[in-house]
Amino acid sequence: MARIIKGPKGKHTNVDYGNLGKYMHDAAQKYANNIFQIDADLDIKETYAQAHLRARRLALSLRAHGLQKDDIITICSRNNLNNTIPVIAGFFLGAKIASIDPTLSLIDCKHCINLVKPKFIFVENTSVELIESSIDCVGCAPKIVVIGKFDRHLSFDDLTKEHKDEATVKPVVISSKETAFIFFSSGTTGLPKGICCSHDAILKNPMNALDLDVLRADVIFHSTTLYWISAIICVMCSYIRGGHRVFSTNPTPEGVLKLFDKYKVTFAFSAPIFSYRLLEVPNLEKYNLESLYSMLFGGTPMTMEQITGMRDTFKHVKFQLAYGMTESSGFLTYFDFTRDKHIYLKKEMSSGKAAVDVEIKVVDIETRKLLPPNQNGEIVVKTATIANGYHNNSEMSRDFDEEGYLKTGDIGYYDEDECVYIVDRIKEMFKYLSWHIVPNSIEQVLMEHPAIQEAVVFGIPRGADGDVPTACVVLKDDQVVSVEELHKYVDERVADRQRLRGGIKFVDSIPKTPTSKFQRRLIREMYTKL
Ligand code: AMP
Repeated sequence: MARIIKGPKGKHTNVDYGNLGKYMHDAAQKYANNIFQIDADLDIKETYAQAHLRARRLALSLRAHGLQKDDIITICSRNNLNNTIPVIAGFFLGAKIASIDPTLSLIDCKHCINLVKPKFIFVENTSVELIESSIDCVGCAPKIVVIGKFDRHLSFDDLTKEHKDEATVKPVVISSKETAFIFFSSGTTGLPKGICCSHDAILKNPMNALDLDVLRADVIFHSTTLYWISAIICVMCSYIRGGHRVFSTNPTPEGVLKLFDKYKVTFAFSAPIFSYRLLEVPNLEKYNLESLYSMLFGGTPMTMEQITGMRDTFKHVKFQLAYGMTESSGFLTYFDFTRDKHIYLKKEMSSGKAAVDVEIKVVDIETRKLLPPNQNGEIVVKTATIANGYHNNSEMSRDFDEEGYLKTGDIGYYDEDECVYIVDRIKEMFKYLSWHIVPNSIEQVLMEHPAIQEAVVFGIPRGADGDVPTACVVLKDDQVVSVEELHKYVDERVADRQRLRGGIKFVDSIPKTPTSKFQRRLIREMYTKL
């Protein structure tokens, strides 16, 4: 029977914990001497008390330089001990944070800065030129604060120097429902939008997950920068439990295993593609991963090989692929390892059950009717931690159905046990003849071929037939296979309409966003030029 999938009721739904400035300030007093963050690349750490002292000094300096409540602060930095300090300082003053990833292209960076017009931009010295060029194009005049040595602009070190009021300054009072973060959506097509997430949502989404058996927040590893909501969730989990975050920039798989061992990491978040690289590390047994309780993948689908490979190799670690989006301020589905202990290992391809305070409907794409188990449709969701909207753009209201459910644009289904499966994005689907082709179903087939490291499928226009399925493939090192063999392999396993009529081409790598989502527009362009 068609039904709405409902997650457990949250304990915190009607509690107001105040804004993040206050929450983080109180937590830092409670956990003052606990380690807050460790830079694994430099092997340096700092406590909550040390980080908050720097943040209070910075808040006082920013106020003196004219920062006011509701102003926007942008941070463009890799992870280091400094990049969270402007976040804490900003919340102290009631400002909003809109972080940029240093790997963004000039076009995207310009677009993001133009969208939010920040009052201050904190930038690591290695990315100053990107920021200066973006500002020149946009024509706004934020104050630039440079993290690291640099001749021009304000210096982060100067702004965090001792201040006479540093012991007594207090966070301003603002509502927890106001926007705390503006995340630039990672959209794989088109330019990013600014998704506004409130203080309340950013706090409660991870708080709810911590109430269940999803992760242990004592020592959290993440490699994404503060541009990504996953990194913010990791930071918030640390605050909620008084644990610490460990980070590394562009770590090798060996490097990650070493730091799991060295810093006794209890939880790690990663993009699915990283699992392959971890599995290829030789002599895995030499790393002591006993402390690692669970590891969560998210952001893109995973193959059966990836998830079972991880489970078979790291037997004591609990792995799961969770589902979420920035618009929901984080998780929408996950497994609770205690509640779901009898099923989660059997549901390798599932992204889990509805998260706390989340309702999920799967509806027919055309008729919008509620679908029964095991039928693909659009996933639409209601969550207590929904974003406030898009920055300077009323468009988000169009993304809700008449019952107030957010249309995620994802295709998926649920099974009899109410486990949810994400199959693909609607916008990545294309039509061949009159069939909807779901690229991920064909990619899964290609990924099962022993010679293939990575594969992406997309449509190439072919007159009245519509778009024909086409693939780019990266082979594993030292593997040889011909295009003809791959066609034969695929043809034996897919429906006629899914055959790769547009062709298969070998490439060295596939263009992706920093969180491993395929950039299909770029891929199509690349394919036609090959
Ligand atoms: P973002 O807002 O950048 O976090 O991206 C959210 C999108 O990532 C979702 O709408 C999905 O398309 C995709 N995504 C997230 N989790 C999963 C998952 N477990 N399986 C497949 N796709 C996912």
